[in-house]
Amino acid sequence: MVKIGLEIHCQLTKLKSKLFCSCKADYREFEPNMNICPICSGIPGSLPLLNQNAVEKATTIAMALNCEIPEKIAFFRKNYFYPDLPKNFQITQLNAYGDTSIGSRGKISINNKEIRIRRIQLEEDPGRLIYEGATERTKITLVDYNRAGTPLVEIVTEPDFENPGEVRIFLNVLSDLLENLGVSDPGLEGAMRADANVSIEGGVKVEIKNIGSFHDLEKAVHFEITRQQSLHERKIEIIQETRHWDDRRKITVSSRSKEEEGEYRYFLESDIPWVNIRSDTKDQLKTTMPENISSKKERYISKYNIAPQVADILASDKYYSELFEKSHSENDAKDIANLITTDLMGLVDTREKRDSSKLLATHLSELVDAIAKKRITRTSAKDILQDMIKTGNSLSVILEKSDLNQISNHDELSKIISDVLLNEENAANEARLKPETINFLVGKVMQKTKGKADPIITLEILKEKLGI
Ligand SMILES: [Zn+2]
Repeated sequence: MVKIGLEIHCQLTKLKSKLFCSCKADYREFEPNMNICPICSGIPGSLPLLNQNAVEKATTIAMALNCEIPEKIAFFRKNYFYPDLPKNFQITQLNAYGDTSIGSRGKISINNKEIRIRRIQLEEDPGRLIYEGATERTKITLVDYNRAGTPLVEIVTEPDFENPGEVRIFLNVLSDLLENLGVSDPGLEGAMRADANVSIEGGVKVEIKNIGSFHDLEKAVHFEITRQQSLHERKIEIIQETRHWDDRRKITVSSRSKEEEGEYRYFLESDIPWVNIRSDTKDQLKTTMPENISSKKERYISKYNIAPQVADILASDKYYSELFEKSHSENDAKDIANLITTDLMGLVDTREKRDSSKLLATHLSELVDAIAKKRITRTSAKDILQDMIKTGNSLSVILEKSDLNQISNHDELSKIISDVLLNEENAANEARLKPETINFLVGKVMQKTKGKADPIITLEILKEKLGI
């Protein structure tokens, strides 16, 4: 039996400042070592000041993951020497005096299976080491402390996963949940990182560290299960150890472990007092918490009669659900939902495309309205969407420029269809005998009008002219 547990590190990227100082939490825009101060670079004598918003965001995560939240939380020093850690200790949390981490004993369900959350803690991110060249052969390692002190939430699960597929589903559900809460942007480089521990057949636990992306986490877990099973079959002992994920070779490799948990010599961070999490603060956070994904999905289905698969896509993606919420009215909700999940999805499927998109919610309502009033065809809607994303122009401006107005004028269409029938004499004769072949002629009319002909009126006129 395979058992997998996860430790997920999620940066609170939506915060303005770091966890204990006023440097920016968004360190990515800076030149190396330009987003630092005496506190986050560990100058002796500097004192940390706890970011209250970070405590609130972490509490919100703990609530969303159904954790128990203690009345008081504490911070601890985790001592270890490593160049990315300017103070030589990390300020983190520990359940040493009862529950003093921000959350304990939570749960979340994925595909009708419950995954237990052991604990959630709030801590600071270390800096970044940048290796010049390949890791093994590098002569120079550079240190950038811009990230040091960034607020991080660590989510530790119980070993409740039995295969890499469950891990993948959990990570998807979790990153949607964190994005929906407005606490983190999982798409940002380094915003979500994870370690995993894997054991088979009740054997020892092997930890895998250094996994840079969720995509690689599934691969690393898969590799580790196969490695352990192969050792087990050959009756070779599996050693309890820490292994690193080699991103380039896509394998796990044994690494001399840093300190064991007991060697970190944790002690209470006396520069930060214990923090009360008052019940009225919790109540207030609960009322201002965004609607969760599953109730959003239920609401879309019951209120607007949207298909469950469509509602699922809309509800779990914050970008789509925000567009939907802003653009729909009571009457066009279903059409807008379909427009987003059929036409828009392929056009804004990456972070870069979304960032550069000039599409507004009003564009979607204009489009759905124009399709309903037969001003444009369903086929040209996608081209128009593409234009809106690129230019941000309104529908009327685009129609004026590109002549995409639907041709539904009877006389105009009748003339075009007569021309088509003259050129396609054989097909016309065939359609008279076998009416089901008429679609070929409809296609020809569409071709001639570049998709602008109203398909229903076209079919009517064709039948009339062919006498069928
Ligand atoms: Zn700072």
